[in-house]
Amino acid sequence: MAVLCLSSITQANFKIPKEIASKFSSDPEILSLASTDYGHIVHETPLKVFEPSSVSDISSLINFSNSLPTPFTIATRGKAHSILGQAQTRNGVVLNMTNLKGSLISVSNYCDRKTSLNCYADVGGEVLWIDVLHATLKRGLTPLSWTDYLYLSVGGTLSNAGISGQAFRFGPQISNVLQLDVVTGKGELVSCSRDKNSELFYGVLGGLGQFGVITRARIPLGPAPTRANLQVKWLHLLYNNFSAFSSDQEHLISFGKENETTAADYVEGKLLFNQPPLELSFYPDSDHQRITSLVTQNGIIYIIELVKYYDSNSQAFVAKDVADLVKGLKFVPTFMFEKDASYEEFLNRVYEEELFLRSKGLWEIPHPWLNIWIPRSRISDFNEGVFKNIILKQNISSGISLIYPLNRNKWDDKMSPVTPDEDVFYAVSLLRSTSSIDMLKKYQTQNRQILEFCKGAGIKITEYLTGNKTQQQWMEHFGSKWKLFADRKARFDPKRILSPGQGIF
Ligand code: FAD
Repeated sequence: MAVLCLSSITQANFKIPKEIASKFSSDPEILSLASTDYGHIVHETPLKVFEPSSVSDISSLINFSNSLPTPFTIATRGKAHSILGQAQTRNGVVLNMTNLKGSLISVSNYCDRKTSLNCYADVGGEVLWIDVLHATLKRGLTPLSWTDYLYLSVGGTLSNAGISGQAFRFGPQISNVLQLDVVTGKGELVSCSRDKNSELFYGVLGGLGQFGVITRARIPLGPAPTRANLQVKWLHLLYNNFSAFSSDQEHLISFGKENETTAADYVEGKLLFNQPPLELSFYPDSDHQRITSLVTQNGIIYIIELVKYYDSNSQAFVAKDVADLVKGLKFVPTFMFEKDASYEEFLNRVYEEELFLRSKGLWEIPHPWLNIWIPRSRISDFNEGVFKNIILKQNISSGISLIYPLNRNKWDDKMSPVTPDEDVFYAVSLLRSTSSIDMLKKYQTQNRQILEFCKGAGIKITEYLTGNKTQQQWMEHFGSKWKLFADRKARFDPKRILSPGQGIF
């Protein structure tokens, strides 16, 4: 009988159940892969890596841990695109979802494309969003809410929030889930939704992997843009005045109704700091000189990124729709740039960048990112205190800086994430990478300065995709929601087995 002793994990005399014994690996190469992530900052080596072939393997693993006097921790790992070790564990098992077979993607057969009634896809928690896109586009359908980058797992983004330029209109990805299958920290496979086992459903969405392993999600779909080849109009509007920029962004997201066909389909924002290198690939070569001058003169240029999808009824009208959208906006005259792209090319835009960076050896390097949400009432103070007085003044490359507003009424407060307490809040992402230890330290110092500035100025920000916190700091993060979060942990993962890399319990 092939039984593998877990003596190195916990108790010497406990034996791994026969049916899952062969799924454990302690191959040094596999352990080494499981002890890193996209951030390349935190490295925890697990004792074993578990490769399930089925959902019942996941239940067996969790049941096995629960059966021990001292259970071992289990870190569910989707694509490991976390920044701070959230999918890692030191003295436990990494549950590698990547090769889980059997729960692929199925699109409902009863979908009415005109009304979107009964249009949904059932998707395994391990599936990547890029694969969801491909599978649904084959049926002329698409999920409504995305992240900027699609090589992330469904379970991974639903454990956080999943935001991008569509979220102002459709909400984050966690607001776009009809049902889930979850293996809880007690090893039970539970189906849940807003109506059935709702406490688990709300807890798991944005729940940082604390309550269970998502093995299936039912995602609502809408019609995909249908025009051949070119399906989106993609615009950049450049501003040298922050208040004009932010009020125009807020104006654009105020047309947030899902069925409002004249509304923008995507609204984000970027910053160009007067620090090399300037990323100008969106713009024609012939305009690089004048854009560079604009940045040099102003120090910071703010860019609204706006997209309008062509749909089958309005192909002829897209130019008018775009003209109506930008009418009255206060960007610097003549600094509006546009291009056409296919829907997939637009959604999968970051992949091009990944290929380029990989070719230069600049993808698998440390990423000292900072992601924060800021209440609308303080965004102008944030611009002064952080963009102008910290980032612009320090002589280190700003990397990619994103800023865009979100409508809070598209979030469900029963779910786990905490958002700023205002109708509109801004998502700010400072996305940096460096292969130098010295620069890494400088970025980490800068991140601390930004957080300290916000604290000192009384700006009540929320950190997103955060980690490396003490429990006291997590309690502050969750604020009045901490008790609910802790109660859910006690209910669904009482032995505190799951997702130790978040450092919450
Ligand atoms: P992992 O890093 O593997 O896991 C993250 C957490 O979720 C861990 O705690 C893990 O234990 C848990 N987890 C993973 N799978 C499951 C599961 N099936 N069930 C339960 N828990 C699970 N985020 C946005 O919101 N918007 C963006 O535009 C965006 N862009 C990004 C671009 C890049 C290049 C990168 C690297 C990240 C980006 N992110 C973005 C962040 C991303 O959404 C999160 O890091 C997400 O967790 C990544 O998914 P993953 O599959 O890699 O998760």
